[in-house]
Amino acid sequence: MSFQPQEQVDLRPYNTLGVSARARYFTNVRIQPQLQAAMRWAIENDQPWLLLGGGSNLVLAGDVPGLVIRLEMSGKRVVHEDDEHVWVRAQAGENWHELVRWTLEQGWSGLENLSLIPGTAGAAPVQNVGAYGVEVRDVLQQVLVLDALDFGLKHLSVEECRFDYRDSLFKREPGRRVILSIDLRLRKRPQLQLEYGPIRAELERRGISEPTPLDISDAVIAIRQSKLPDPAVLSNAGSFFKNPVIAAGQAAELKQRYPEMVQYPLADGQVKLAAGWLIEQAGWKGKCVGDACVHQQQALVLVNHGAASGADVLALAAQIREDIAGRYGVNLEIEPVVIDAE
Ligand SMILES: Cc1cc2nc3c(=O)[nH]c(=O)nc-3n(C[C@H](O)[C@H](O)[C@H](O)COP(=O)(O)OP(=O)(O)OC[C@H]3O[C@@H](n4cnc5c(N)ncnc54)[C@H](O)[C@@H]3O)c2cc1C
Repeated sequence: MSFQPQEQVDLRPYNTLGVSARARYFTNVRIQPQLQAAMRWAIENDQPWLLLGGGSNLVLAGDVPGLVIRLEMSGKRVVHEDDEHVWVRAQAGENWHELVRWTLEQGWSGLENLSLIPGTAGAAPVQNVGAYGVEVRDVLQQVLVLDALDFGLKHLSVEECRFDYRDSLFKREPGRRVILSIDLRLRKRPQLQLEYGPIRAELERRGISEPTPLDISDAVIAIRQSKLPDPAVLSNAGSFFKNPVIAAGQAAELKQRYPEMVQYPLADGQVKLAAGWLIEQAGWKGKCVGDACVHQQQALVLVNHGAASGADVLALAAQIREDIAGRYGVNLEIEPVVIDAE
């Protein structure tokens, strides 16, 4: 298959932070042979590549070297079912939220807490997307990948994906394995997860005492819409920092100094802190570097009011990290993938 990429394409429409950055080369792929042709072209021309889904978990630090490959493979279908479960296969370019709603409308549960997360199905395993007490690894059966090392197709099990909190093999070795499709194991008889966050309160507010998975999805959508800026209205990349995990001793010391500090003890004895709480308490809400600002309502989200560059966003993030490290002795890690400039 012959391959000819576009050149010098502005990626602003392709990242939810809305920063302008040019891709030296750019292509959309809808079928696997196009993907292979693009990757072979990049190898032959000694160009790195960047895999792009919905661009909702990226910070483009500047113009992007090499070839940007936007994955647009579509399709979803049932591949297997028994009395208890149904196995759904979704191609990488499927819109995640539309996939979630489609499975719920069929009467299958498992994805309801993960409603309204932007992006594609293929990217969901990359940072093991999670919300309201559920992570994609809880429902994932396997992924099909194209390995750039030998161009072989491989199924990887959940164990092989080496998932962690907002992390996986794919995030640690970016670009090497292209996720072509994901298989999800969904339940015919729901097992609902209502304990996390304000889901129960939202259901009560709606007068629902025996919720269905669709009710939970509706509640999650309402909660998210009330808390998080919609990237279509105000550009952002969701939570900008991971919630830091610290040793119990340090957590106890901090609790003495800041009795109000939000802390979640973990099974392994460590303690998770709320990054948003730390940033808010340190007075960062509404602070800006150029057009890059900490969101007025949600301190964990950095927004672009229009003309911010990736460098502005990263400069603001660096100031926040330095301040939080100085105040609390806590290291904040950036959650989105930072793509270095040319
Ligand atoms: C408003 C908002 C709310 C959000 N809420 C949440 C949330 O609640 N929980 C959460 O976990 N995340 C959340 N996110 C982050 C983001 O939505 C997810 O990480 C999502 O899975 C990213 O999908 P994407 O298609 O946009 O990926 P992109 O941003 O396009 O890519 C992200 C990374 O994955 C790689 N990649 C993309 N597709 C593939 C593929 N097929 N194979 C291999 N690598 C690939 C890219 O190279 C890049 O490194 C939020 C983001 C926003 C803007």
